[in-house]
Amino acid sequence: MGLQTIVRQAQAKLDAEIDIILADCRQQEVALYCRRGCANCCRLAVHATWPEAVALAAVLDDRQLSALQIHVVRLRQQTDAADGMLDYLRQHRNTLDGCPFLAADGACGVYTVRPLSCRALHSTRPGDWCGIDLSALPVIDKELYLKSLDPQWVDIPTHFLSRPRIAAQQLEETLLSAMRDQYGFSIEGNLALLAWLAGAKGLSKHLAHGRTAVESVLEPLRLSSWLLRVVGS
Ligand code: SF4
Repeated sequence: MGLQTIVRQAQAKLDAEIDIILADCRQQEVALYCRRGCANCCRLAVHATWPEAVALAAVLDDRQLSALQIHVVRLRQQTDAADGMLDYLRQHRNTLDGCPFLAADGACGVYTVRPLSCRALHSTRPGDWCGIDLSALPVIDKELYLKSLDPQWVDIPTHFLSRPRIAAQQLEETLLSAMRDQYGFSIEGNLALLAWLAGAKGLSKHLAHGRTAVESVLEPLRLSSWLLRVVGS
């Protein structure tokens, strides 16, 4: 079965699992706040697998390609300047202009092909909280926030549902494993960077020639391991 078929199956499977989880939330009166146009979570660094990025790169229009190009330049500059991974994640949320695939109205511009990690994010707090830097909160506010979280439902210290995240990670592993079966190695990392590598850099055409051929494209870019991970031989 082709990787793109496996991507579509994984996305459909996750959507179906999330429907069940959200029904459980409604039954247990767990409030959820996600809605179209609320884009604070789209300022976070998004993880994806290579097959998902290929699916997404195939549908980008000229405006999105242009936004992606600008975003990747800034992302690489910011990553190079970061003082450790936590600083990279903080700067990503605070200084980059959000995901390059966001539409002008704040909706996802690639909704049908958005990756598993985006599908899995469901907030048990109003949207303002999705963009908040916890380390910048006054101690008392942070304590109150942490006390308000229910470990039965969320990934503490975040306020995002845990079950969709676990289901998405299992499906990501399925995709990476399918890629390793086909090519002998897998690629995962930052969604925007992977989409740029799949589109503008044409990395896909090197995959069949093995990891060494892929590394010959990647090495001159000197990408941080926070942005890209290649696993396998
Ligand atoms: S792909 Fe869509 S949902 Fe995911 S971060 Fe980008 S705009 Fe948001």
